[in-house]
Order: sequence, then C-alpha cells, then structure tokens
Amino acid sequence: MKLEGIHHITAITADAPGNVEFYAGTLGLRMVKKSVNQDDPTVYHLFYGDEGGSPGADLTFFEYPGTPRGEAGAGMVHRICWRVASEPALEFWEQRLRAHGVSMQPTGGALRFRDPEGLEHELAVSTSDDEPLSASSPEIPREHALAGFDGVRAYAAEPAASARLLRDALGFASDDDREWLVRGERREGFYDYDPPPPGALARQGAGTVHHVAFASRMEDHERWHALVAEAGARPTPVIDRYYFRSIYFREPSGVLFEIATIGPGFAVDEPAEHLGERLSLPLRYESLRDQLEAALTPLPDPRASLASRSARQS
Ligand code: ZN
Repeated sequence: MKLEGIHHITAITADAPGNVEFYAGTLGLRMVKKSVNQDDPTVYHLFYGDEGGSPGADLTFFEYPGTPRGEAGAGMVHRICWRVASEPALEFWEQRLRAHGVSMQPTGGALRFRDPEGLEHELAVSTSDDEPLSASSPEIPREHALAGFDGVRAYAAEPAASARLLRDALGFASDDDREWLVRGERREGFYDYDPPPPGALARQGAGTVHHVAFASRMEDHERWHALVAEAGARPTPVIDRYYFRSIYFREPSGVLFEIATIGPGFAVDEPAEHLGERLSLPLRYESLRDQLEAALTPLPDPRASLASRSARQS
C-alpha cells in the first residue's frame, strides 16, 4: 500500500477575486470547483487544478475575508513546487510573470515568486516520469503550462522528529531525514524540510499554506487511518468532503497532513466540462442558495476575460 504523491494543497486567501485573477488568470490553472467552507457557507472554498481536476495538481484556498497576512515558520509549508516541461517553459513563465508585474528571485534552474498575498511558489523543469497534469488556458501554450506538483518544502527545526511517522507509517523514503520522497504506483512527490528563518512567526493567515494532502487509493483509505492511529498521530475520523474522503493529523514537526482519496472527484456534482462555473453547495446548504449567492463576493470569470482578450489580439 502506497500513497500516490500529493493529492492537494490548501492555503488561505483574504481576497477571493484577486486569488481567481492570479491562479486562473496569470498562472492559467482551471477553476475546477467554486464551493463554500463546509463550516461557514458565507465564505468560499476555491479549487484550482488541471483540466480534469486531478489529484496531483489541485491547489485550494479557504477565503477568510479581512484576515491579516500570515508568515510561514516552524511547522508550516512555506513553498509550493510545480513541474514544467522544459527550459523554454521556464523562459515563457519568466516573461509572463514579469509582464504581470510579479517579481521573481533568480534561483538557478528554477523560477521562484510569490502570489499577491505572499505565498511562495517555485517552477522547475520536471525530472519525473509522472503524467503531466495541465490546464488549457487561452494565453498559455499547452507545452508551457504548469504540469502538477513536484512537492512542498516545510520549515522544521528538528525534522528528525518526524522521521518515524514519515518512514514507518506513511512509507516516505529519505537518506537524511530532511528530503523525503513519497512514491506510489502512478505518482510521486517530495516533502522537504528547511530550517525556519530566525524570528519567523509561524502565523497562519493570508498567503500561507493550511495543510498538504497526500493521495490514497479508495480501497486503502481505512487502512491508512488505522496505520496513522497505530503510529500515535491521532487522525480525525474519516470526513466526507464530497469530492474525496479525508483524514487529518499533525505530523511531529507540526505540519497539518491530510490523506485524501483519489475519487470520486470533482465531476460528482456537476458535468466535467462545466467544473467550477456555478457555485457548488453541500446539500444541506442548497436551500440557502439565493441568500448565499447574494452574500458571497462576486468573482471574475478569468477564462471568459482571457478568451475575449486573446480574441481581440488575434
Ligand atoms: Zn484538504
């Protein structure tokens, strides 16, 4: 039984419209689900991904309007690393990000930048054999599109504390207890630690990662729950998230982990060709649809505005 790399990564935004512009507009991801927080339906839960909404390329945001900026510190993921296909793809992104006013750090062979709220991303040429997971944006040539997650980097002062859980219970592999690989039958991803910057506050808020989820085959999920519990990591009960089932637990270095099932997927409540266009509500909130749609901040439709912009240009 193996985890199939990263399933999704969830972060926090205080600005849902700006978030849509950046991730679906600038980065060209597909909005694969526009939903609400299951505990507070007056705020969004937004999901971006590849064209199919696949595990392995799914970045989601909880909207907390007005929440202050956070700061990644010990026990938090501080960087999301994406695959691209080639050096020319990196050059494409360097030009595109510059044109969109995004500042970049030269890193040698990779492109590092932050979203408008400070969440850090890195693009690097893929060395993996995994199937590329990309979206079709009218402004981004398919061969240059983001191709799914390569991994995440987290801050930990003493990463060796996490080694037993990662290796023995979750099946991650490492030579040094700092750089870990989780490799399934179909997909792989890395989970690496860096020392926290001196004085970093480790404050959850806008522009920080909330949790990282690893992918389980449907039939393995209960056994993962048992393994994590046996390892002493106190997982939550299995929670039905409609698009997948989840357990949550904190790994010893403090990062919130989730193990999520690969199905049933985002097409469970709307047609695959129209993912994310309409507000998706949990059944118990469906009767409140009119009030909720009126209360939620209106969001731009980035695909429509991109399509009309490229139509004008051609
Ligand atoms: Zn999650």
